Amino acid sequence: MRIDVLGGFGGSSRDCRMTCLLINERVALDAGSLAQALPIEQQQRVHSIILTHSHLDHTNSLPFFIENVYGKSEGAIDIYASAATIYSIRRYLFNNATWPDFTRLPNHLLPAMRFHELGEEVPFEVDGVRFTPIPVSHLVPTHGFLLEQDGKAFLWSSDTGPTLRLWEIANRTPSLQALGIETSFENSLQQVADVSLHLTPRTLERELEKLEKKVPILLHHLKPPSIAGIHDEVRALRNPDLEFLEQGKRYEF
Ligand SMILES: [Zn+2]
Ligand SMILES: [Zn+2]
Repeated sequence: MRIDVLGGFGGSSRDCRMTCLLINERVALDAGSLAQALPIEQQQRVHSIILTHSHLDHTNSLPFFIENVYGKSEGAIDIYASAATIYSIRRYLFNNATWPDFTRLPNHLLPAMRFHELGEEVPFEVDGVRFTPIPVSHLVPTHGFLLEQDGKAFLWSSDTGPTLRLWEIANRTPSLQALGIETSFENSLQQVADVSLHLTPRTLERELEKLEKKVPILLHHLKPPSIAGIHDEVRALRNPDLEFLEQGKRYEF
C-alpha cells in the first residue's frame, strides 16, 4: 500500500496544505488539497474519494477537483462518506449557489460524481484496499479509517478529541504497521482543543496510554500557527515512537 501525503495539516498557509492522502495513486482519503497538490493528469487518475467528515479542511478541493476531471475520467467519481457528510456536501458545497451540483451534471443519469453511504465499522473495498470506517470523537460525525492491503494495516484517526474505539481497533489489529493520530493545537490552546474536539500534546500523551502496542505514530493535522509550539511540546514527551507526518512524502506499507 502506497500512501502519498498530499496535505497533512488542519489549516492552510503557503507551506501547509490541508488534509489529503493519496492511496495507490487512484484513491483519495479526504480532499483538503487534491486539486492543489497534483498536476491535472494525476488528478484525472483518481476515481474514488473517501471522506472522513464534512469540515472544509477535508473537503474544500472537491469542487475544483471535480471540475478538473470533468469529462476526462471514466464514469462518475465515487465519493464514499457517512450520511451526515453526504448531506452537508450536498447542502453546503454542491448546492448550485456555492458550486454547481455535479451529482446532476451533465444530467442525473450520467452524473460527474455519485455518493456511496458508509456504515459504521462496515468494511468496503476500493481498488484492492479494504477500508473500515471507525467512529471518532469530533464536532460533526467523523470516521477514522483502518486501511488494509496485502496483510498490512494502517490506521488513520482523522480529526478527534479523546476517543476510545480507534484504540480498541489498533490493539486488536495484529497487522498494524503504523497509525496516524491528530495533534492540532499546542498545550496553551487546550481549551480551544477541548471545545473543538481536537488533541494537544498533553491530551495526545493521555490517549497513547490506551495503545497496547509499539508502532510508529505519525502526528498530523497541526494547525499552522501551532506548528512550532507542538514540535517543542512533542519533543519534550520523549516518546521515540512519535514522528510528524511529512507532507510530500510517500509511505509504503
Ligand atoms: Zn480538520
Ligand atoms: Zn474537523
